[in-house]
Amino acid sequence: MPERLPAAIHEKLTQRLTYYEDLGIQFFYRTRKVASTFSGAAISGGAGANANVPFTVREPQISNATSTPIEEPLPKTPPKPVISTAPRVLSSPSAAKIEILPKAPEVSLFDAVNKIPNDTLLKVREDLGDCTRCKLHSTRKTIVFADGNPKAELVFVGEGPGHDEDVQGLPFVGRAGKLLNQMIEAMGLQRKDVYICNVVKCRPPENRLPERDEIECCSPFLLRQLDVISPKVIVCLGACSAQTLLQTNRGISHFRGQWLDFRGHKLMATYHPAYLLRNPAAKGEVWKDLQKVMSVLGLEVKKGKAAESGKSS
Ligand code: URA
Repeated sequence: MPERLPAAIHEKLTQRLTYYEDLGIQFFYRTRKVASTFSGAAISGGAGANANVPFTVREPQISNATSTPIEEPLPKTPPKPVISTAPRVLSSPSAAKIEILPKAPEVSLFDAVNKIPNDTLLKVREDLGDCTRCKLHSTRKTIVFADGNPKAELVFVGEGPGHDEDVQGLPFVGRAGKLLNQMIEAMGLQRKDVYICNVVKCRPPENRLPERDEIECCSPFLLRQLDVISPKVIVCLGACSAQTLLQTNRGISHFRGQWLDFRGHKLMATYHPAYLLRNPAAKGEVWKDLQKVMSVLGLEVKKGKAAESGKSS
């Protein structure tokens, strides 16, 4: 009988492996099929794959060995059966089908959080105060609350502030933020038209993933922000944000690009801009997701709109 890992270590390991999966890093498992993933054309990242993507990532590419999002399931690691049923498809008032992702049984972040009557973003900010609820407060410079339009129809939710955000006190102002700005502009919007926030409001040291206790402390404030804004669409940037709002520990590649429900709002999970900086080949997938968002928001989706400067990946 193989020895069982302690539950806490098991959960951390699972989260870490899921994170790697979402980054497309899967080859270090002995069980993975390595050969097929290197067959150039089969990889979604040929230059042609991004020919119609109107935002450019001019970043040095890392080797293919770690740069391709491959949709392979993780090896069976979770301690409990996590998701057992297929997403439920509901009929929805608009053309886009919304699915409800089954929740991981052990996660109940938002179940007890009810809407606060007459809540405002100002009250949320005041209640957050000079927060010391979790250990991130001891290493942060600035609380990064949010940026953009409080009446936005579209909210982007990222993971947590990085170095530049910590210094400037605004979300997505570093390299990933510049790319996010390009993505927003490609949609025919400006940054000031949308609302941008994160799962955690303080920078995790060394830009590590936010830990569960940190997410638990911070996410009620995110939830209140989302409840106040009540946007038409929430776009989760990356696995951390999607998994937090959807209360799942499934890898993002399993539900990316699908319309999902978040407390009655349409939610679309897509890859994080930082992931795109490392994996420009995935831009095409993200652009497809954003086009779905555009069509729900009534923004013109120009078929075959070529990148002004984005013809290379
Ligand atoms: N990455 C995030 O997830 N959020 C930011 O604000 C910046 C980078």
